[in-house]
Amino acid sequence: MTILLSTLNARYTHASLGLRYLLANMGPLQAQTRLQEFVIGAKTTELVERILVNKPRIIGFGVYIWNVEETTKLVAMLKKVAPEVIIVLGGPEVSHEAGEQEIVRLADYLITGWGDVTFPKLCGEILNGPKPIMKIHAGVQAPLAELQTPYSLYTDDDIRHRTLYVEASRGCPFKCEFCLSALDKTAWPFALENFLAEMEALHARGARLFKFVDRTFNLNIKTSLKIMQFFLDKIEANPDDPIYAHFELVPDHLPDALKEGISKFPPGALQFEIGIQSFNPEVQALVSRRQDNQKAADNIRWLCEESNAHLHVDLIAGLPGEDEASFAAGFNKLVALKPHEIQFGILKRLRGTPIIRHTEEYGMVFDPHPPYTILANKHLDFMSMQRLVRFARYWDLVANSGRFANTVQWMLGEAPFENFMDFSNWLYANTDATHRIAMEKLAKLVAQWLQTRGLNAQQANALVASDYAGGAKAAQHGHPAEQPKAPLAAAALPQRQARHLAS
Ligand code: SF4
Repeated sequence: MTILLSTLNARYTHASLGLRYLLANMGPLQAQTRLQEFVIGAKTTELVERILVNKPRIIGFGVYIWNVEETTKLVAMLKKVAPEVIIVLGGPEVSHEAGEQEIVRLADYLITGWGDVTFPKLCGEILNGPKPIMKIHAGVQAPLAELQTPYSLYTDDDIRHRTLYVEASRGCPFKCEFCLSALDKTAWPFALENFLAEMEALHARGARLFKFVDRTFNLNIKTSLKIMQFFLDKIEANPDDPIYAHFELVPDHLPDALKEGISKFPPGALQFEIGIQSFNPEVQALVSRRQDNQKAADNIRWLCEESNAHLHVDLIAGLPGEDEASFAAGFNKLVALKPHEIQFGILKRLRGTPIIRHTEEYGMVFDPHPPYTILANKHLDFMSMQRLVRFARYWDLVANSGRFANTVQWMLGEAPFENFMDFSNWLYANTDATHRIAMEKLAKLVAQWLQTRGLNAQQANALVASDYAGGAKAAQHGHPAEQPKAPLAAAALPQRQARHLAS
């Protein structure tokens, strides 16, 4: 093997689509190229050993926000023990502000932007000359029709055990300033018939879980409908062989034809990721996010009430111009729409994103280390931001985990943000911890807090026990200690800003 393509995924179940694209497009060098994926958290020495045992001459690393710190250590150690191995970097984390990054200083070459065409070309020059003079190479963005697709590179093992990322289009026409896709300016579709043929082949090999990384699945409704019909046909042909498809939607664009298609899906087959981020029009304008809030709310309500899709809706705290009261109002508005899961994200300054233009005027202070989380701004001082960070953490533990489905309904009451913030502050004051709280202990703590809010010990314990006893399925009314209500949430997924870097 001459060329190794490698990355550190956030989890074993995440199979890197980006690396598979590179491998698919290696041309004559493909036979001497291999893929070797790792998972963050491993010992650097072990990674170095496992890489060098294959004696690569070139290593291409995919660098992302979740792995940049560990990949930097890995590259540093590789350069110490095997300085002759050529290191080429690529990926969103190193595609911007490269001059400031230690990992770029350590590496031999860097490809910014798309690597599908430029990486094989650079490898050819490194191996066969003439030796490339420039260290940084701007990736050539080839027409999508000229790219080899990577889906056949998913192994049977990937199909059985990992999330299969697929994309029917790349890029986004919108310009939300906190998002790297804002730089795309437009979306480019892959040829639909070819794409569906690839999906057919994956399905024939046993794939049942398809996660679309398209930034806005409902941009071109005709295409969306055809893709949905592909999955509906599969479900219809074999109702006992379930399929699960995950799409990202813009919330204010759900024409009747699309609603009709969505409503045909049975329970457990569709998941939608929907970004609201903020319901405040002034904040939306500040970050160049175009969104019709009324339409967005109506569509979320329709999806919750009239479809079987599982809804995961994102909000971001810390945006310029949004104080706690404004965020709370948006949160409460969203809770009232009853999505299955609310992802409460904290703003991150992703490298290259235009949000930086607000830094001075809005006093935006970001952590200089990945994931570059906001620490304070003009409207939210550090202490307030910390309280929001804890709220987000506890929200994941209690609401998004789905383990307290009935109890959460009672906890939120008529003022969800304010009530959950009270719980969050109380929990932190009583534990001093945001991590490593065992579920059993958390259940006891939740029951204790409920007693500070008017339930007696028996009622509080009964309510929490209704979740533990598996009574979370029933949607009923009455006294909370006797009658559990409907579940609010299911399993948490990665935060939207970071997720957009995954492909
Ligand atoms: S947040 Fe979503 S809609 Fe906005 S630019 Fe990013 S991908 Fe596009």
